[in-house]
Amino acid sequence: MDPKLADDLADLPALLDETRHVAQQVLAGLDARPVARPSGVTDAAALPEVGVGLRAALREFQQRWEPRFSGSAGPRYLGFVTGGTTPAALAGDWLTGVFDQNTITTGDSAASALERETVGWLGQLFGLTEHTGAFVSGATMSNFVGLATAREWLGEHLGISVADAGVGALGPVHVLSGAPHASIYKGLAMLGIGRNQLRLVPTQSGREAVDIRRLTDALDALDGHPSIVVANAGTVNTVDFDDLRAIAELKQRYPFWLHVDGAFGAFAALAPEHAHLVDGLAAADSVCVDLHKWLNVPYDAAVQFTRRRDLQVQVFQNTAAYLGTPTGTPDFVHLVPDSSRRLRALAAWFTLTAYGKAGHREIVERNVASARRLGDRLSLSGSVQLLAPVRLNVVCFTLTDRPTPERVQALTRAITESGETFLTPTIYNGTPALRAAFSNWRTTDADLDRIYDAIIAACTGLDS
Ligand SMILES: *Cc1c(COP(=O)(O)O)cnc(C)c1O
Repeated sequence: MDPKLADDLADLPALLDETRHVAQQVLAGLDARPVARPSGVTDAAALPEVGVGLRAALREFQQRWEPRFSGSAGPRYLGFVTGGTTPAALAGDWLTGVFDQNTITTGDSAASALERETVGWLGQLFGLTEHTGAFVSGATMSNFVGLATAREWLGEHLGISVADAGVGALGPVHVLSGAPHASIYKGLAMLGIGRNQLRLVPTQSGREAVDIRRLTDALDALDGHPSIVVANAGTVNTVDFDDLRAIAELKQRYPFWLHVDGAFGAFAALAPEHAHLVDGLAAADSVCVDLHKWLNVPYDAAVQFTRRRDLQVQVFQNTAAYLGTPTGTPDFVHLVPDSSRRLRALAAWFTLTAYGKAGHREIVERNVASARRLGDRLSLSGSVQLLAPVRLNVVCFTLTDRPTPERVQALTRAITESGETFLTPTIYNGTPALRAAFSNWRTTDADLDRIYDAIIAACTGLDS
């Protein structure tokens, strides 16, 4: 054994304690750490010829890298839809590495059974009790699995398996959506369907929710041709929701696969006041839900749900003598793009076990209350104006005075440089804007005050 490796093995209990100590310091310092640390390109150090051992590696990490990492795990990071890591999720993530299980099959461990149990719990949270599912690395992959299964379903109508015959056997593919996330285009590119096959259906005026009449017209124009409809349950700019129930009802008249991208919006199901936003979700053929966003598990985790596991297996089966064939309850190796994969479910299992439905409902409701309060205060400030009502957990706003690209960019930069909060820019309806997305379990009213003050100070600074 390499001497450094042997030393670390002998000293493992103390080294784990020191690692825990570093973790503790980082978490205790989250409030003081700048929320964002824009980073340019950095000179890479040379590959260590001979290692230094874990203790010295920890020191080196603390010196060279730790000070330059962002506070994205903390309560005032409002960029993208990032979420944090609950204490239980963190413990689950640590133990994932400790056990290092491979959920490729059930032949040597109950790890896959734990993943199934967790997927079942998540299905109950979102009302998807007739669906089966699996963990993937993020909503992009979840959307990809849903679209891949949809592609196979289109083949079924022609009596072919696209997974076997190739996408060329399918002819033109019709994909319809109102305001899809960028990852839908990426998925279509990866699947050989092609980004250009996505037909944008007009949304309702002043909204990002699809216009049902226009969707009906588009389906009608397909003349009985099967298609894929991607419904959006929570758009990233304004968290708008398609009318899922109305779309699902169209399935009685037109043949289409209904995929719902509910990456973070699906969490509306946890809060009675907002559950109506995802009414009809259960009628979807496939559903995407991200977990490293609003479940507050660490990167990377999402879940995909489907009603047609048989078609999913046709696409993702990984048959080899040593892996077995996908009969009965198929192993995860036959359900997702990965073969070998970590026990990603463990962090979710821990947080759901530790805090339950009630605990996670409280996070969702508190985040929504924060978004509303920030929205209310910002609209009264005079400095900025909201571009959409706060429907759930995102405040989308821009400068009241001359919201030019340059000024909004300068505002974004000033907010980032304050270190107090971090918001990501967007363009909504042609207007440069900012979005503040709440999804971290730690965010309190005191954080909200700091966030508000930082935004207003940055606005004031623009004109001085
Ligand atoms: C974040 C998001 C995605 C992509 O999620 P990743 O986890 O980054 O792959 C897809 N759709 C929606 C609506 C999202 O918010």
